[in-house]
Amino acid sequence: MAIVIVDDTIFSLEVLKAFLLSAGYLDIITVQSAAELYQLIDGYTERGIVEIDLILMDIVMPEIDGIEACRNVKKRESLVDVPVIMVTATTEIEGLQLAFSAGAMDYIKKPLDRVELLARVRSALRLKYETYRRKAREAELLEVTRQLKAANERLQNLSLLDGLTGIANRRSFDQRLLQESRRTKRENSPLSLIILDIDYFKAFNDTYGHLKGDDCLKKVAFTLNQTLKRPGDFTARYGGEEFAVVLPNTDDVGAAIIAEELRVSIDAAKIAHINSSCVDHVTVSIGVVTRFPGQADTPDDLIMAADRALYRSKHEGRNQVSVEQLVKID
Ligand code: GH3
Ligand code: MG
Ligand code: MG
Repeated sequence: MAIVIVDDTIFSLEVLKAFLLSAGYLDIITVQSAAELYQLIDGYTERGIVEIDLILMDIVMPEIDGIEACRNVKKRESLVDVPVIMVTATTEIEGLQLAFSAGAMDYIKKPLDRVELLARVRSALRLKYETYRRKAREAELLEVTRQLKAANERLQNLSLLDGLTGIANRRSFDQRLLQESRRTKRENSPLSLIILDIDYFKAFNDTYGHLKGDDCLKKVAFTLNQTLKRPGDFTARYGGEEFAVVLPNTDDVGAAIIAEELRVSIDAAKIAHINSSCVDHVTVSIGVVTRFPGQADTPDDLIMAADRALYRSKHEGRNQVSVEQLVKID
């Protein structure tokens, strides 16, 4: 990383360079005009790295003066953090003000005083490094935040619980249904599946707002869980306002009874819904299916059959239970 000296007077360049070398700053580039400085910078920009730590800039130069050159340098994104110290024979306030407003951070007077020069160079370099370190830390922090967010998303996907209602999510449901499907097949026992869908829930959101809609979903999830008594029964949030219950070792009669209990429990919870076309509170439509030993239906077949039953419940007026029969034989 270099210190660049811009001065049209060879003598000044040599004096500055000598002072800096004597203090151990070995990487020094001297240029005699703003145009040469631009060339140098363009070369760095092309290579994608700016290896300049500090610019010492003479104010009075023919053609492009130091103030104009400083302004130009500071316009470049890659150079905003590179400090510019003006070197001036005059301490006229007006000239200095222009230099500062052009982006210079400091100035040194000619004739040059070695101690003063080195003190200013040191503090400019310190500031540059601190700014650089702070920006690097900020970038690091941003990166860590981004990674944390990505990790949280991955965790959320891995999670088996629905974030809103706290009951099992779809992923967990899929796993459990598959597991129970295999187990009940092995044990030659029936497996039932219930799918519930809240009636006119869009109208509920439209009437009471999305937050109340979320509360309603939580209440429905809670009520379903309260109503199911056997430890093997498994409730999940299947989708937006749809829930599913897996009932292992439960035949069609048992499943229909439980489905009706669930329907009644939601009905009895009397969650106000003035814009439901059924009644004045929240209701659910339910589809039920049972697979008996000897039937070959897969978990997907069960879901599709329960969905067909649910569709019938919707079609026939909602707030009711429908049962679907399976046909595939092992
Ligand atoms: P139907 O009686 O035929 O089931 O009608 P519906 O309005 O209940 O069904 P539809 O599928 O038209 O609308 C479902 C609504 O559920 C729309 C969607 O905004 C809402 N919903 C889905 N997930 C959430 C959620 O997490 N929170 C809230 N508040 N609303 C949700
Ligand atoms: Mg729906
Ligand atoms: Mg619905």
